[in-house]
Amino acid sequence: MTASLAEMTWREVADAVAEGATTVILPLGATEQHGPHLPLGTDTFRAWALAERLSAGLSDALVAPPLPIGCSDEHQGFAGLLSLAHETLADVICDCARCMAGWGVRRLVLLSGHGGNGDALELAVARLAEELPEFRVVVLGSSTTVPAAILTLAASDGIPADAVGLHAGEGETSEMLAVRPDLVRMEQAEPGFRGGGDSLIARLREHGLRPITPTGVLGDGRLADAGRGARYLAAEIDRYRLTLRDASASHMRRPS
Ligand SMILES: [Zn+2]
Repeated sequence: MTASLAEMTWREVADAVAEGATTVILPLGATEQHGPHLPLGTDTFRAWALAERLSAGLSDALVAPPLPIGCSDEHQGFAGLLSLAHETLADVICDCARCMAGWGVRRLVLLSGHGGNGDALELAVARLAEELPEFRVVVLGSSTTVPAAILTLAASDGIPADAVGLHAGEGETSEMLAVRPDLVRMEQAEPGFRGGGDSLIARLREHGLRPITPTGVLGDGRLADAGRGARYLAAEIDRYRLTLRDASASHMRRPS
């Protein structure tokens, strides 16, 4: 049977929870520019795909519909942007968590496809820890850097880290070729800003992407490959499984 809340009836959900499905994975996306070649919903499609793949390997998890709007103020100046204040997104997450706790969910996995959602996630986690101390919350995918496992896979295929890129580069483009190839305009892909090092995140936070990359790309999507994208997604799932296992282990050890 499907694990997708949006496709289930309330009785199916109640039965699944009674049989132990007390984890919900909530995919968090964004609606923001992803260069000339990727759709605005790139982070939402990626988060949703990751959530579905993660749940397939878990016996106790349901998947909530993705939240398609996140915190993307760093993309001001590009058409199509929809962005929430950190507090607003944290409010939405907390409202959903309260509902879930009401029908028996005990663990919420917040799986973000967009690094800019990190502050909102921190806020939501802190509020829920205070308000619902028995309700566990695990955050996945909120990093603002490219995961080391992806950089290792890229390097083994001869793709340099600055081409993988933080945004709409080879990394996200390859993943989108694996997830929604019908939405990737490869013929429109252009090289973006490459480089920046540790100071890049600080500059992005202060000035946004527009002054750094007029096309909106950090990296180079022209090097993307669907097979590599599938391997990136698999590597992320492996990392998420370890994080969930470690989170469960530390919860078991916690004094009651
Ligand atoms: Zn993205």
